[in-house]
Amino acid sequence: MAVQKIVILGGGESGVGAALLAQAKGFAVFLSDRGTLKESYRTTLQAAGIPFEEGQHTEAQILDATEVVKSPGIPSTVPLVQKLIAQGTPVISEIEFAARYTKARLIGITGSNGKTTTTLLTYHLLKTAGFNVGLAGNIGDSFAEQVIADTYDYYVLELSSFQLDDMYKTQLDVMVLLNITPDHLDRYNYEFQNYVASKFRILQNARPADSFIYFAENQPILDELAKRQPDVKKLPISLQSTPSPGGYLADGQLTAKTQTQSFAIQQSETPLRGPHNALNMLAAILAAQSVGVTSEAIQAGLKTFQNAAHRLEPAGTINGIQFINDSKATNVDSVFYALSSMDTPTIWIAGGQDKGNDYSQLDALVSQKVKALICLGVDNHKLVDYFGGKVPLIYETQNITDAIAKGLELGQSGDVVLLSPACASFDLFKNYEDRGDQFKAAVKKMYDV
Ligand code: ADP
Repeated sequence: MAVQKIVILGGGESGVGAALLAQAKGFAVFLSDRGTLKESYRTTLQAAGIPFEEGQHTEAQILDATEVVKSPGIPSTVPLVQKLIAQGTPVISEIEFAARYTKARLIGITGSNGKTTTTLLTYHLLKTAGFNVGLAGNIGDSFAEQVIADTYDYYVLELSSFQLDDMYKTQLDVMVLLNITPDHLDRYNYEFQNYVASKFRILQNARPADSFIYFAENQPILDELAKRQPDVKKLPISLQSTPSPGGYLADGQLTAKTQTQSFAIQQSETPLRGPHNALNMLAAILAAQSVGVTSEAIQAGLKTFQNAAHRLEPAGTINGIQFINDSKATNVDSVFYALSSMDTPTIWIAGGQDKGNDYSQLDALVSQKVKALICLGVDNHKLVDYFGGKVPLIYETQNITDAIAKGLELGQSGDVVLLSPACASFDLFKNYEDRGDQFKAAVKKMYDV
């Protein structure tokens, strides 16, 4: 039989990893990227002798694939992918491809918000407990490349809906669904239900002995669960009730219980603040318990966890005013949780590229907590129109140093200046990291003078 040919569409971290794995498994491989490859990926492919193209897709080279591994960034609606689907060529994600070649137990984590925090924490809890664990998916090094050596017993995988869309048979042992709120609807035909269905693909191969951890106060999750009635060990997490088994926050204490194990800790003893992070921690603790991490190890791991940057990250204190960088908050739901986490008067810096935001869910929090709004965007009219009359003071700027200076001027000792934009950053910055880095650098500079 002729050698089977794997074509990889998209030459980023996942695509290059998939190409290396396909080569290691003896397939003929061709990688095609319509854009420009990063220098380091080009060098990797050349060194491995893997044929590739960039700046174009040569259809003849792609349509004769046995199977196609598609980058999550490429929508399935593009004509080339439609042609592949029409001719019956399987199109899968890098996760699906890699999962075929590992016997490790898999913990998959998805949700509209909180994936990265929960994934990093789950990984940290397993690692500090001495588990032989890898981290992959939408984060860090490619899963496929790690599977070539396949040295891990566990992987914690951050899964976006785009990755889930191209997953079919991957068998996850522990599944986490943090929340479903409207996002990425442009990729789902503007139908929220399509996006819900995509997120629920995380459950598609669930077995009765697997664990499913989910947020019990998220209506789309509850509605869908009622329809599907999956046969799996359910571990709900809650801010309003005390499910058991499951996890909850009550009187400042996090409690997580499986059938066999119970763990509790005061949130104030952990490094993560806010109700959303209580949920993220509960999910990570239950996931860790599900694979056998002891309560002692969970306790120790929680205390040493450091979250990724730009998520409610302390950025310094000047004159008793604390600056917090939450640049990753690019939608209204994450701002909701950021403001919920504030327990002192807040000067809120928001703005950027609006993605069709509806700010009404912030009304109560803003009137309770926000003493001034600093709009940081090219076009601030939507924020100004909406919050005019609702916030005592609104100021507009397009300069981050100016925004911080204004925060200092308006703040008093004990206040917080919170950058939590609710918008994408592309009007004034390269990306959310750049926005957060500039914010931290500008605070530090002010600190130094
Ligand atoms: P993701 O990887 O899903 O984007 P992150 O952990 O990077 O999630 O957090 C992104 C933003 O969402 C942060 O600004 C944070 O404040 C907010 N957030 C984190 N966890 C949750 C949650 N469980 N529910 C709602 N918002 C959250």
